[in-house]
Amino acid sequence: MVGVLMSEIMVCVIFVIVAAGVVRTSVSAEGKILYKHNNSKKINQNNDDLKNDSSTDAGTKWNLILVNSSHKLDQSYVENISLTQLRNGQSIDSRCYPELQQMMDDCRAQGYSPIICSSYRTHEKQQELFNQQIQIYMKDGMDRQEAEERTAKSVAIPGTSEHELGLAVDITDIAEQKIVSGMEEQPVQQWLMKNCWKYGFILRYPEDKADITGIVYEPWHYRYVGKEAAKYIYSNQITLEEYCYHH
Ligand SMILES: [Zn+2]
Repeated sequence: MVGVLMSEIMVCVIFVIVAAGVVRTSVSAEGKILYKHNNSKKINQNNDDLKNDSSTDAGTKWNLILVNSSHKLDQSYVENISLTQLRNGQSIDSRCYPELQQMMDDCRAQGYSPIICSSYRTHEKQQELFNQQIQIYMKDGMDRQEAEERTAKSVAIPGTSEHELGLAVDITDIAEQKIVSGMEEQPVQQWLMKNCWKYGFILRYPEDKADITGIVYEPWHYRYVGKEAAKYIYSNQITLEEYCYHH
């Protein structure tokens, strides 16, 4: 009898432990941060340094770092970025995570279904994407040089992509996850283009600005620059290049 009671108690105790685990898991899933870039103590220390110091060595604020074909990424800076991983496996610089999450939540609250289909990329991943596009153009009959030049207009040259910086996200509608032309017509994009600045993001490659940015119109690529800069860039309809040159 005692034996039976004990085993029932044990089952009960085990159930409580398992149930507690389930609750914890669902809470962390709701929190949407499932993993933090946290490889070693050394990296953590460096990350703390980054958080305390809002400037890079060159004196530029981290959120205003300009990355384009003539402004290459500083790899030592990139190696020390602290990343937050999202539920769908994408990850971004932890410092812009709260505002990104708020923007996504508010967009969903309006009845839209945005999804982040691309975010932080390693240098190797960017190289892979670049090479893939070159191969596609070469299959279409272009020679290597022509294919490289054409690719560079739509896929940033490795080392010059904002995705490697951890501050850029490609957002699309959950029903249409492929990056396609005409995406600016999607209600999700309409909402984001109109409201992203409130969360510190800008539409980084606007229409008719390719001569300044070096990248064709991308009505899906949003870059975090902080609320102050985003408001200025949005209201003056300029690019990050123009903002950086004049500030
Ligand atoms: Zn992008």
